Amino acid sequence: MRHQRKVREGAAMVSRVIPVDPFDLVIFGGTGDLARRKILPGLYRRFVAGQMPEGARVIGAARSDLDDRGYREMVGEALDEFLPKSARDTKAMKAFLERLSYIAVDATGVDGWRDLGKAMREDVVQAFYFSVGPSLFGAIAERLHKYKVARPEARIVVEKPFGRDLKSAKELNATLAAHFDEHQIYRIDHYLGKETVQNLMAVRFGNTLFEPLWNAKYVDHVQITVAEEVGVGGRGAYYDTSGAMRDMVQNHMMQLLCLTAMEPPTRFEADAVRDEKLKVIRALDPVERSNIVRGQYGAANGHASYADDVDNPDSRTESFIAMRVDISNWRWKGTPFYLRTGKRLKARMSEIVVHFKETPHSIFDEDAGRHANVLAIRLQPDEGMDLRVTIKEPGPGGMRLVDVPLDMTFADALGPEAAEVPDAYERLIMDVIRGNQTLFMRGDEVEAAWAWTDPIIQGWTDRAERPLPYDPGGAGPADALMLLHRDGRRWREIAV
Ligand code: NAD
Repeated sequence: MRHQRKVREGAAMVSRVIPVDPFDLVIFGGTGDLARRKILPGLYRRFVAGQMPEGARVIGAARSDLDDRGYREMVGEALDEFLPKSARDTKAMKAFLERLSYIAVDATGVDGWRDLGKAMREDVVQAFYFSVGPSLFGAIAERLHKYKVARPEARIVVEKPFGRDLKSAKELNATLAAHFDEHQIYRIDHYLGKETVQNLMAVRFGNTLFEPLWNAKYVDHVQITVAEEVGVGGRGAYYDTSGAMRDMVQNHMMQLLCLTAMEPPTRFEADAVRDEKLKVIRALDPVERSNIVRGQYGAANGHASYADDVDNPDSRTESFIAMRVDISNWRWKGTPFYLRTGKRLKARMSEIVVHFKETPHSIFDEDAGRHANVLAIRLQPDEGMDLRVTIKEPGPGGMRLVDVPLDMTFADALGPEAAEVPDAYERLIMDVIRGNQTLFMRGDEVEAAWAWTDPIIQGWTDRAERPLPYDPGGAGPADALMLLHRDGRRWREIAV
C-alpha cells in the first residue's frame, strides 16, 4: 500500500502542468490535414490542461478565403472529428475557439502579409508553424521578414519530409538559414515527442541499473520495429516517390536508433543531446546489399495491392524494409541493430527491444534451457516497458527456468492519469513556446542522416531492383526472417 501511494504521488507529478508564456502561434497551412488532425486538437488539449495562458492566441493562415468565424467553425468540426468523445467539452471548446483567428495569406504572393504583420503583438512569444509543403518554406521565410511579420527572436517550426536526399536537405537548410538562426528553427520529428522515447532516456540515464550493461559486452543485439496495419491509403501519390526508407527509416527510426545507442550527454539540453545523436549517425557503417530486404505488399483479403493503391503497376517503391545496421564505435562494435518497418503488416506496433546476452556460463543442467534478458520499450500501443527476467518455474521437480515480464505499462504503475499520455504534438508545440530544442532535429543531424541514407537508396535505384512481394497481414517477406536467422537470431513477433 505504502509503495502504491508513493508511486501515485509520482503520478501526480507526471500530470503537473507548467503554463507557458503568452504567445502568438501562426499556423501556415492552418486549414490543412495536419493542422486539423494533429496541431489544433493538440492545442485544445493543452488549453484544457490549463497550459495556455490568457494571452495565448492561435492564428490560422492559409489560402482559403475564410473569416474568423468560418475558421472557428472549421476547427470546431476538426475537433469533433479527431478528438475522442471523452476529450470534448462544449464549454471548453467554445472558449478555445475564441482564441483562434484567421488571415488568408498567399505564401508566394503579396496578399495577407501586411494584415498578418498588423495582427502580431510585440510583447509575446512568436512562433510560426510551417504546416505546408517544403516548396513553400523559402517563400514564407522570406516574407516573414520582408513584411516585418517576424521579430528577430521568432521561432519557426517545420515538418517532415525534410528533403528527399542530402542535396535537397542542404538546400532547405540553406533556405531557412538565410532568414533564421539555427536556434530559431524547430524541425519536428513527432517520434521524439512520444512519452516512451523520453522514458528511454530516463531509464538509461536516471538509473544505475542499465547503463553499465548498455554496450556490446552485454547486449547481443537491438531490434527496432515500426509496423503498421494500414496500407498507403490516400497518401499513395506522395508515398510512391518516397518509400519506407525515406518515409520512416531516415527520420523516425534513425532517431530511435540514436537515442538507444548514444553516449550519455553531459546534460539533458538541446545541443548536448543532439551532439551525441550526431556522433552515432556518423559512426554508422554503410549497409551492404545482403543486409537489406525490401518488400512491397500484394493484394489479399479484399485489400488492394500496393501497386493498385498507388495506381502505378510498375512501381519499384518499397512499402517494407528490414536491415541490419552496424555501428563502428567502442560501445557497439559487434552488436547489430536490426530495423524493420512496413505497411499492411499483422498489427500496428512500434517498439525498441534490447536483447541482452545469455549468462557466460550456465550452472543449471540442459533441461533448464537457455535464457536471456530482454528489455522492450513500447511506443504503441500501450506505451510502456517490459523487462523479461529469468526465474525458477514454481513447483517441485528440479530447476526449470522461465522468463517472466516485469511489466511497466504506465497506466498500471502510475494510475489512470498516466494512461492519458499526451500526444507527441502537444508536448512538442509547448516546447517550441518554451524555447526548448532538445526534442527537435538540428540541421547537421538531418544532413548526416541523409548522407548515410543516400548511397543505400542509390544502390537499389542503380540496380533497378524490384522489392519482394509479401502477403498483407504477416511480417513482411520471408527474406526478412532470414536476415536474423542467418545470424542465429529471430524477430520478436508483431503482435498487440
Ligand atoms: P494539406 O494539403 O492538407 O494542407 C496544405 C495547407 O497549405 C492548406 O491549409 C493550404 O491552404 C495551405 N497552402 C497551400 N499552398 C498555399 C499557398 N500558396 N499559400 C498559403 N497557403 C497555402 O497538407 P498537410 O497534410 O496538412 O501537410 C502539410 C505539411 O505537413 C506537408 O509538408 C506534409 O508533408 C507534412 N506532414 C503532414 C502530415 C499529416 O498527417 N497530414 C504528417 C507529417 C507531415
